[in-house]
Amino acid sequence: MSQSSNSLRDFAARLLDYEGVLVERIEPQGLELLAPAPVAKVLQIPELARLGFAAELPAGAERVGLESDWLERFGHLLGERGQTARVTLPVALPQLSNAERVVEHTVNLQNAVYRVVGVAPAWTRYLVMLFRVTAFSDEKRDGIVKLGFNLANGSVLDAMVDELLSSAIETEGVKDATGLPVSLPPDWTQAQLKSRVARALPERIDAHLAPFLTGMQRRLERDLRRVHDYFNDLRTESLLRLRKHSAAETETARERLRLEAIAREYGAKVADLQQKYALRVDVAWSQTLEIVMPVQRVEILIRRRKGERRITLDWNPLARKLDVPPCEHSYTQSTARLACDDRLHLTSPAAQAPCAGCAKAYCRACHPLQCPKCRRKEG
Ligand SMILES: [Zn+2]
Ligand SMILES: [Zn+2]
Repeated sequence: MSQSSNSLRDFAARLLDYEGVLVERIEPQGLELLAPAPVAKVLQIPELARLGFAAELPAGAERVGLESDWLERFGHLLGERGQTARVTLPVALPQLSNAERVVEHTVNLQNAVYRVVGVAPAWTRYLVMLFRVTAFSDEKRDGIVKLGFNLANGSVLDAMVDELLSSAIETEGVKDATGLPVSLPPDWTQAQLKSRVARALPERIDAHLAPFLTGMQRRLERDLRRVHDYFNDLRTESLLRLRKHSAAETETARERLRLEAIAREYGAKVADLQQKYALRVDVAWSQTLEIVMPVQRVEILIRRRKGERRITLDWNPLARKLDVPPCEHSYTQSTARLACDDRLHLTSPAAQAPCAGCAKAYCRACHPLQCPKCRRKEG
């Protein structure tokens, strides 16, 4: 029984109780609810309902988990209050005894040297956004994609977002605890946030949909194969007849027409299948959670040729993980980085790749819109 399923049940119980639902804990890991009609409607459940939070469900229970759309349903219950929430997690902050090793373990910088120049306790703000992704094809698939950033340095949170979310759900909102931070990283501008989300989200959606697409591709190929085999048999028979009747002219002409009709019909069937399996994906922002918490801030000096640059990476005490330096162009979740010559931007190798037009390599963080040499636009 995982910690997060327990805490999600506690969170749900508190929230539902607050909304006037009669809540009773049942085993294994479930809740039985008697909900006022309006609440039941928002949650899309009957007024008398059972929810299950672990692999094993109570009899007749609906499954609730971080991967399901239940976070969003609870969000609807909170209405405007729930769309953007802020939670402070004043967790204990251990010392980071061997920062060099932690950095070495996490940072994969392929064309520059670096050294740790300092470690100090600090506070940061994480922004975790939930997006509802619905894919329509021959089947429909619903899901939640989570995208998170550390506002201090733009690092993406893929490796720790589930731990952060579970802890945030588990913790009662702290409003006036002592020892709260004096200084926090500032907000990003709307334009900054928008462009980073626009670059980061497609990759996460692709990864999220990959199993669905694989299944769809398999079904499409199976159907195409069937249609092909069927028409191939017809064609083979027709060709055999053609060979047999090679002397009789009327028979031959008829058989040729039949062959043409078979080819036409095959083309139409393939087009039907392509239509049936065409994919449409809807993405809608659903909620944003801001998590404020203490971190160990590691300062790193990066050197490439004559240039140098200082960056900071935060070590998170809940996930016990250090930020991966963000790709300052794509905000990808892959971890290899190159430093650019001019400004020592850190990016993924793809964001320093040769231009498709003139083959000159250039930094997309320096030149986000077009190649500086041939002016070819980034597609
Ligand atoms: Zn170019
Ligand atoms: Zn650059």
